[in-house]
Amino acid sequence: MRIVFLGPPGSGKGTQAKLLAERLKVPAISTGDILRAAVKDRTPLGLQAQAIMEKGELVSDALIVSLIRDRVAQTDARGGFILDGFPRTLEQGRALETLLLEAGEGLSAAVNFEVPESALVDRMAGRARAEGRADDRPETFRERLRVYREKTEPLQAFYAERGLLAGVDGVGTVEAVAARVDEALAAVRRPENRA
Ligand code: AMP
Repeated sequence: MRIVFLGPPGSGKGTQAKLLAERLKVPAISTGDILRAAVKDRTPLGLQAQAIMEKGELVSDALIVSLIRDRVAQTDARGGFILDGFPRTLEQGRALETLLLEAGEGLSAAVNFEVPESALVDRMAGRARAEGRADDRPETFRERLRVYREKTEPLQAFYAERGLLAGVDGVGTVEAVAARVDEALAAVRRPENRA
């Protein structure tokens, strides 16, 4: 299955992507993790992305799309993948659609994690303390949330139009949310997209 995970920062999609990847035996591909590794290793990509990430803004579509194009072409992603944190703009959504079409493939579903803003702010304060992620600090987090509403939220309509959107209530234990992901996927999977 080829699945994208949508949802605001702190909605738990990273945790759920890793768990679903284990269940489906496909890789969970997180653009945020790839970028953080590049920053840590001081690669050219990392040097370009670092300041943008620290401000809570989005790295350019061209850069991210080329990164994803290379990653989904790797052998471990042939049988499917879960994309966590990509696409984040309509431009990225269209680019993904095109690159999959070129390969004769399509998405199976777009899972959207729904979590109220008050819960997100609490979760992020906790993660900022536990993991020390600079972009989880309250000021930067608020900016990430603003960027999410402006740039990423329109992807919900984009995938709803294609019959691929599956909403999941993201409030609850990790296990409860994982069970809802399975139910949502069973409901949205279209026979022609099964892989
Ligand atoms: P994440 O771990 O998914 O919250 O990503 C952390 C940061 O990496 C984001 O705030 C952006 O600066 C950058 N980033 C991750 N994925 C993308 C993407 N698909 N497009 C643009 N920027 C991204």
